[in-house]
Amino acid sequence: MAEPLFRRLALLGIGLIGSSLARRARAGGDLAGEIIAYAPSEATRARVLELGLADRVEADPARAVAGADGVLLCAPVGAFAGLAEAIAPHLARGAILSDVGSTKQSVLRDVGPHVPAGVHFIPGHPLAGTEHSGPDAGFATLFEGRWTLLTPPPDTDAAALARLTEFWRRCGAMVKTMDAAHHDRVLAIVSHLPHLLAFTICGTADDLADESRQEVLEFAASGFRDFTRIAASDPVMWRDVFLNNREALLEMLARFTEDAQAMARAVRWGDGAYIEDKVERGRKIRRGLIELKQA
Ligand code: NAP
Repeated sequence: MAEPLFRRLALLGIGLIGSSLARRARAGGDLAGEIIAYAPSEATRARVLELGLADRVEADPARAVAGADGVLLCAPVGAFAGLAEAIAPHLARGAILSDVGSTKQSVLRDVGPHVPAGVHFIPGHPLAGTEHSGPDAGFATLFEGRWTLLTPPPDTDAAALARLTEFWRRCGAMVKTMDAAHHDRVLAIVSHLPHLLAFTICGTADDLADESRQEVLEFAASGFRDFTRIAASDPVMWRDVFLNNREALLEMLARFTEDAQAMARAVRWGDGAYIEDKVERGRKIRRGLIELKQA
């Protein structure tokens, strides 16, 4: 068995993502010698102990990071600035400070200025998740075969980056490093815009008159159902993602709106070739995903 990468790993926030990491760390001894968890609510802290996900839970993030050589922020991204400010004076020299947040420029902006000298700050984002949340929702294999993107600032220590990369590899992830701004643009199109569309379409359906709303539910298998799965995601998490990737999301939404207008024009004028071409492109993208085993 490989030595644990971190002697003491602190997870600040332990819902779907944090508890999946904790479960993976518990399943093998190769990630963390000891796990300390912080969650603001008493209910989550009690549940984490019941599930045996951590050796210790703390109600104070500063106590959770004391003596930790690995610290991962696993809370909604809107909470990162406050968490960073609270833990900064208590971070151990040489520790790696990372996160799993869905936006990355905001993490550089909100956490970066608080990081003390001698602490290795390397933001990250596992592209793995479900629509479920909370410590019961996690599972040890969540990251297997999925990408984790790391967005190290330019002066990042190579050994710290290698250690964090190895952490995610041991979770079963494929790891890539990229620039935070690039990450945010890519994620705006592959994740944030689809969620925005799903929340919107569910709202549109819900606004329909009562009798149509009943039929929406009864006949949902026609396509609507797939949107409802995405739309079942956590409201706080998604509020924070939208507000912290504002520019890229609005840019992708503007492009989408133009393309949707072009489709509307094709429908209005009976341009069947245009419609067929768009559907064919969609099928191609789906086939590509299946080939890459990301479907
Ligand atoms: P989650 O299941 O809702 O868990 C969130 C955790 O953060 C809980 O332990 C919660 O504690 C804690 N928390 C909530 N508000 C907080 C605050 N103001 N300060 C400190 N802690 C707070 O969320 P998740 O799905 O694991 O998401 C966590 C992070 O991963 C987010 O940044 C998200 O963008 C990112 N992410 C999510 C997915 C996904 O598909 N869900 C995928 C990749 C990355 P309590 O239970 O005590 O409230």
